[in-house]
Amino acid sequence: MEIERGTPRYIVNIGCLALPQPFEGSLLGEPVKIKKNLWLEIKNGRISRIGHEGEPEPPGVEANNVFDAYSMLATPGLIDSHTHPVFLNFRQSEFVRRCRGETYQQIAAAGGGILSSIRGVREANEEMLSALIFNRLEGFLEFGVTAIEAKSGYGLSLADELKSLRSLKKAALDHPIEVSPTLLAAHVIPPEFRDNPDGYVDLVCNSIIPQAVEEKLANAVDVFLDDSAFNPKQTRRIFKVAKEAGLDLRLHADQFSVGKGAEIAAEFGALTVDHMDYTDENGIEALAKSGVTVVLLPGAVFFLGLEHYAPARMMIEKGCKVALATDFNPGSSPTQSLPLMMSLACIKMGMTPQEALWAATMGGAYATKRQDELGSLMPGYQADICLWNAEDVEYLSYAYGSVRPEVVFKRGEVVSIFQ
Ligand SMILES: [Zn+2]
Repeated sequence: MEIERGTPRYIVNIGCLALPQPFEGSLLGEPVKIKKNLWLEIKNGRISRIGHEGEPEPPGVEANNVFDAYSMLATPGLIDSHTHPVFLNFRQSEFVRRCRGETYQQIAAAGGGILSSIRGVREANEEMLSALIFNRLEGFLEFGVTAIEAKSGYGLSLADELKSLRSLKKAALDHPIEVSPTLLAAHVIPPEFRDNPDGYVDLVCNSIIPQAVEEKLANAVDVFLDDSAFNPKQTRRIFKVAKEAGLDLRLHADQFSVGKGAEIAAEFGALTVDHMDYTDENGIEALAKSGVTVVLLPGAVFFLGLEHYAPARMMIEKGCKVALATDFNPGSSPTQSLPLMMSLACIKMGMTPQEALWAATMGGAYATKRQDELGSLMPGYQADICLWNAEDVEYLSYAYGSVRPEVVFKRGEVVSIFQ
């Protein structure tokens, strides 16, 4: 029987409820409040009330508007705030070459790596890409992800970047996961501009950004600031144009060496600065002061077989706001498991399981500017909920690689049941 919209629904018999708290200057202490044995009331897709202990039965509960959580753990839906899902093929043949000793850089120099993904996207049409992205959204949902940030970045021409963003929009229209789209035309210099990189920056600033804004295809612009990609001067040029066009700013920085990521992010008031594996103490202090969200991507470090993880412990001690994301992409991080990133955050970056959960929920909400309605389950927040077969939040980071939610709700509706 259909329940009328506006009628409360209830999730009862929740064993443990995780309530990530808004950021107030520090993640130290108790970033996730824990409550036991209670129920949630959902109205119009949002949490309207949390039942208290000693109030065992919600008012108005009937057989057709109640979901029994069987004492499971309830958390907000996870938010993956850095993904690259717009590509044609996975690249496992390169993985085999890496297993045999070749480096990522050697493979790229021989025409593999990102160049092969660029060829793939340029050859694909919008329908093909959109169908692939839809399947990948299903993949995220299976790990409890209910919202993602998603980038273009393998087209690298006006037509192919717009095609990437349009295919993303089309896939998201038909899927419960909310997608925040980012234009990453400044991913690398495309091969045809190898001898004229500033000519490509002209194209990004004069054509690709204005057209993406005109068609309302992106919320943000992203730049890969690296010796192999865009230099500080080019990054500042792109940021200036994007900011004037009303886009939020994101930055890939300090992935392989320390650079000007923290400085430029603070200078422009960027929304996020991502990777930051090599950021030093000065950079961390600048990030804490500027309030930019630092998106940590331990999966890329792990998958590339590197050892230099972001100094997350120091970032948290000094007051940075951090998010955790998969960096899902076919080259350096082909995983869609945000729970696995939570385990890596604890094992490799010194985060606690509570901090890891915060970074994968509320942290992701800040990284996509949705912190007032996503990332927690306090009254007023959207009812994006995961039920896990776990007694406490610590289990999610502890049981590495084998954690999936049993049930996922999006705006109060069941959208996934693990079978
Ligand atoms: Zn990335």
